[in-house]
Amino acid sequence: MMQTFWSTMAKRATPYVPGEQLNDQNVLKLNTNENPYPPSPSVIQAIRDAANVDLRRYPSPDLEQLREIIGKTYDLTKDQVFIGNGSDEVLAFSFMAFFEPGKTIRFPEITYSFYPVYAQLFDIPYETIPMKADFTLDIERFYHSEGGVIFPNPNAPTSIAIGIDDIRKILEHNPTRIVIVDEAYVDFSTQSAVSLINKYPNLLIVQTTSKSRSLAGLRVGYALGNEGLIQALIRIKNSINSYTLDRLAIAGAIASFQDWKSTKENINKIIQTRTWVSEKMRDYGFFVLPSETNFIFVTHPDFSAKQLYKLLKQRHVLVRYFNQPPINQYLRISIGTDKEMEQFFNCLSEVM
Ligand code: PMP
Repeated sequence: MMQTFWSTMAKRATPYVPGEQLNDQNVLKLNTNENPYPPSPSVIQAIRDAANVDLRRYPSPDLEQLREIIGKTYDLTKDQVFIGNGSDEVLAFSFMAFFEPGKTIRFPEITYSFYPVYAQLFDIPYETIPMKADFTLDIERFYHSEGGVIFPNPNAPTSIAIGIDDIRKILEHNPTRIVIVDEAYVDFSTQSAVSLINKYPNLLIVQTTSKSRSLAGLRVGYALGNEGLIQALIRIKNSINSYTLDRLAIAGAIASFQDWKSTKENINKIIQTRTWVSEKMRDYGFFVLPSETNFIFVTHPDFSAKQLYKLLKQRHVLVRYFNQPPINQYLRISIGTDKEMEQFFNCLSEVM
């Protein structure tokens, strides 16, 4: 039996299942929180230029130029920036660098489902903290964690954010542990915790170009934090792979950080669409959580989420459903363009 030859780590691995992909151009894909708008033309041009020039050469191993420009964006130095192949990779390296076997970490009971996958892979014990009745984080239960803390803000899939004062409290009550705040959706929200970095050396913020910057296909994520934390991440990365980003990704990401205006315009459009979509969902009788992300999290008293998912899929609309405790009968719906969301409601009216 081949299984005999698996290492204990390989046996422990319980892979994350990525969102459903349908190879059908006609599908309205509202299931993985991608941005409905394309990246700015300057990003595409930069990728084309990079493809024409330098592909026979290895890319930069230390990503200095991109780290510099990301740092500038947040009033930080390049030594406070780590970049990886998507924020999933940055999160995986962070689990390796900051959490350890034998010391229990904490994350919310309803959260990004990659966290338990990493914890299991790296043999890190974890405790999940139940949400309050309104799905917000129970802040005090994150105090004095033995092994550290990780949570998304805004949280996924609930779409709810906590304020910077609550993050400060969690940091102050875990002075010798690392607190990772996964800000994948923060650009659709009001407050980032970036301003706390220079005060709290135990804070690591993880962000991505996949959502607000429309670059999920390019795979560029990053961490912002104290120089010591960044050095630990670089050490781990350089012990695994010298070149985590290819030349096209580096060029595209640099161009994206040079053009905040077009990203900001797309964010504003998505927030506007989110507002009317949330209202209309309430008109349909859905309970809609107050979203600070590019998706909404909804439930209906009379309709099963799985049934709605199935009926919508038959009409070529893909959403995500959740019906395993502690989340029963919820749908997560990414916000598309106005036109796409009108199409979504046309299909919804046929099935409800
Ligand atoms: N964190 C959260 C909370 C997410 O929802 C996602 C996207 N699925 C990620 C991180 C990973 O994003 P990426 O690897 O595309 O940067």
